[in-house]
Amino acid sequence: MPVRVAASAGWCFGVKRAMDMAFKAAPACSLGPLIHNSDAVKDLENAGIRAVETPGEAPEGGRLVIRSHGVTQQEYLLAQSRCQVVDATCPYVSAIHRMVEKAKSEGREVIVAGQASHPEVQGIVSRAGNAQVVASAAEAQTLRVTDNALLVSQTTLGGDEFSAIAQVLKAKQPRLEIKNTVCRATEERQAEARELAAHSDLMLVVGDKMSANTRRLYEICREICPKTYLVSGAEDLDGVEVKPGLNIGITAGASTPCRKYEEVFTRMNDIENNVPVQQEANAPQAAPEADFASQVDESLQKYRPGQVVTVKVLQITDEGVNVELPGYKMDGQIKTDDLSDTDVKVGDEIEAEVVKLNDGNGNYVLLSQKNIINRKLWDEIVAKYENGEYVEAEGKEATKGGLLCDIGGVRTFVPASQLANHYVDKIDQFVGKPMKLKIIELDKSKKRIVASRKAVLKEEAAARKQEIWSKLEKDAVVKGIVRRLTDFGAFVDVGGVDGLVHVTNLSWGRVAHPSDAVSVGEEIEVKILDLDPEKERVSLSRKATLPKPWTVAEEKYPVGSIVEGKVVRIQPFGAFVELESGLDGLVHISQCSTQRVNKVEDALNVGDIVRVKVLDVDPERKRISLSVRAALEDEAMAETDDITDEYAIDEDVQEAEAPAEEATPEAEAPAEEAAPEAEAPTEE
Ligand code: SF4
Repeated sequence: MPVRVAASAGWCFGVKRAMDMAFKAAPACSLGPLIHNSDAVKDLENAGIRAVETPGEAPEGGRLVIRSHGVTQQEYLLAQSRCQVVDATCPYVSAIHRMVEKAKSEGREVIVAGQASHPEVQGIVSRAGNAQVVASAAEAQTLRVTDNALLVSQTTLGGDEFSAIAQVLKAKQPRLEIKNTVCRATEERQAEARELAAHSDLMLVVGDKMSANTRRLYEICREICPKTYLVSGAEDLDGVEVKPGLNIGITAGASTPCRKYEEVFTRMNDIENNVPVQQEANAPQAAPEADFASQVDESLQKYRPGQVVTVKVLQITDEGVNVELPGYKMDGQIKTDDLSDTDVKVGDEIEAEVVKLNDGNGNYVLLSQKNIINRKLWDEIVAKYENGEYVEAEGKEATKGGLLCDIGGVRTFVPASQLANHYVDKIDQFVGKPMKLKIIELDKSKKRIVASRKAVLKEEAAARKQEIWSKLEKDAVVKGIVRRLTDFGAFVDVGGVDGLVHVTNLSWGRVAHPSDAVSVGEEIEVKILDLDPEKERVSLSRKATLPKPWTVAEEKYPVGSIVEGKVVRIQPFGAFVELESGLDGLVHISQCSTQRVNKVEDALNVGDIVRVKVLDVDPERKRISLSVRAALEDEAMAETDDITDEYAIDEDVQEAEAPAEEATPEAEAPAEEAAPEAEAPTEE
């Protein structure tokens, strides 16, 4: 038959935690023995950890480890006042401390079920203020219970003992609040020991005889299996009669190092001599931690992963913050990476989500602040996806197939084909860039998102176009930019939509090619003739925005005026001369020259630029009579007039000079007369 080892044998998580913390803190002192096992104590001493009875015995300023079952409040405060405290109090026990402190603050009485002399009970009582300790159901009969009392238990008390005490007290005071704080680690170890003992011919309980917990295990097993031995290790097996073929069960107290019962296990195997070995499902040393979450007491507050709770910050460490979970045996921990508020202080109450009821080492409930934010963010993202709204994102990493983006902390993938309206060669150009995305795929269960930037660009362009179309109205005159020219017209951008100005609508006159009227890039005014949003067609007219030539013809070309024009057509009866685009006048054959001509071409040819005199303007009939001959004659006449004028000027000049000629004799006369007088005295 195989040798079987109880899965719960050895250190409970609280002791293991305290030992780990102590070894880390070494060299250090422990306030009281950390563990009731002489081998473990030796190990501690070898590591530089020695037990002291009071904080005063520890070196001032040195590290002082508080054991797993805690110390009194007075000892704790004293320890803090002179040493660096390494608090290895089991979280189960810390939770009881907080319960009774709360009761104390509410003025309630506390009853502790347990041994008054046990250090753990003393630690609880020291924090409770008004407290009574009851060790058994019989003692409970004599107890006076107030109506708002709270009953808690020493963690290592038997579950049955606690139930019996609770039953008696409840009968006395129905309003008694009962918190079963018995540690399941102990209960389970004992239950397993019973079961193992019932199926074993020989039962070995490994541990220190000084350990109450080990002794209790021994008693339980011996009641069921008479051949039960309490051994401290393999060295004690010499006195044990072991025959091959026996069913052998091994268990160990909560303070027994695993190497001690492993030695026993190995020795038993040797004795069994090649008998196959069977261990319980879990390795002995790992079992207590592995199922720690299930040890939560029924009477305490229950939590589940995903639950959002308000927790109180107890301690800030390098790893994150330790928090108090209301009504729970164990503290919680929020790792730094899971903190969204990094300014938290001790005493702050914050909201966090329960992630795991076991941090993997059995020490803490793991919580996260960021999960709440992430969940809110995820809900928002889902809502946006369902409503077809865009999300703001930032490009984070280019991959072979696309771009990884970040939506406020949530990862999103944008395939390369969805990055733009065109092929994107360099995906990394989007890294670090903010962008709007539309979610095109969302898997809620896998929390996977695929998004598209292209969809946003397309929709935005469509929206812009729609807005432009909504602003375009038939008959409205708008400004546009000539984008391109074709033989049949000009395409004009009227604010995002290209409309066509047909060549016939470019000008009032004839336009052979659109380039004769407009040029690419030119801003022009156009009138919207027609709209078809479905076919995205706009008909425009530039001509309609220009004044009609006939309406101003009379004013612009008054009868008698001489203007310049271009011969555009020749007919047998005359030549048509274009004065401006859309305004042609007729030069009758008789008016083509100052000479008589047999045919118009003898005087004028298409393309000639000629000066013509306006003979008549008839806007209603859209007729203008012009004359080259009259213009020539007028101009000749004008020249003649000019010459005449010149002559006239010459005559004027002559006239102006004439008096001078007449005056000369007069002027000279006195001179002539005077001359003799002047000469007269000379002759005398
Ligand atoms: S409360 Fe339980 S887990 Fe904690 S130290 Fe005591 S026995 Fe171990």
